[in-house]
Amino acid sequence: MKIIASNFKTNHTRKTTKEFITNTNSFLLDNDIKNDVYIFPTATALDNFNSVNNLIVGTQNAYYVKNGSFTGEIGTEQLDEFKIKTILIGHSERRHILGESQKEITYKYNYYKALGYKIIYCVGEPLEVKETGMTETLGYIWNQFDGIDLEYDNLIIAYEPVWAIGTGKIPTSEDIEIVHKKIKKKIKQPLLYGGSVKTSNISEILDIPNVDGTLIGSGSWNVEDFKEMIKITNSK
Ligand code: PEP
Repeated sequence: MKIIASNFKTNHTRKTTKEFITNTNSFLLDNDIKNDVYIFPTATALDNFNSVNNLIVGTQNAYYVKNGSFTGEIGTEQLDEFKIKTILIGHSERRHILGESQKEITYKYNYYKALGYKIIYCVGEPLEVKETGMTETLGYIWNQFDGIDLEYDNLIIAYEPVWAIGTGKIPTSEDIEIVHKKIKKKIKQPLLYGGSVKTSNISEILDIPNVDGTLIGSGSWNVEDFKEMIKITNSK
């Protein structure tokens, strides 16, 4: 069964997050949809959500500590309060805007792996690398696997070209197929595609070989659109 994930980034409040999750939960129940559906709200909107087992709420980020003096960060003490056991690691905005290095990402990965978290690990090349060709693109992605245990069972990988995130631009189906095929040779876990997925293109993207689901930002923030994309995901 294909997977669908929504990354809220810095959008939605506690109130609208709760409404979104409650609405999505009812939709899954009413339509008996069993696909794994992930939602990553902002840290301020995390809570104990009473939802079906296949609706999983995760954190967009957390530091690799239980607690301590790390201003602006949250640790596992805060995640445990809400029984959050799922984390996004390596998202391009954390790498390229917030400046997380591969070394820090590796610490984070190993910390959350040791605690058995479900990790959605994101990789993807910037435009200047894509423009130099497929060999360079793959080389860039392999470097993002440095220090990352690809044998970890509780792992999902998301291939998200940086230049496709939030831009409305997506790679050709052929390019997605090539990259996914190459990554799949290295992993047995699910592989998602992310980058400008929306209601109008999700069906085509899900039909590409080795695409096990999608990770969606802006296209998923309206709950009606998200539910439509869940429906399409369920039909595959
Ligand atoms: C993302 O945040 O992971 C993402 C893919 O964003 P968008 O769908 O807006 O491109």
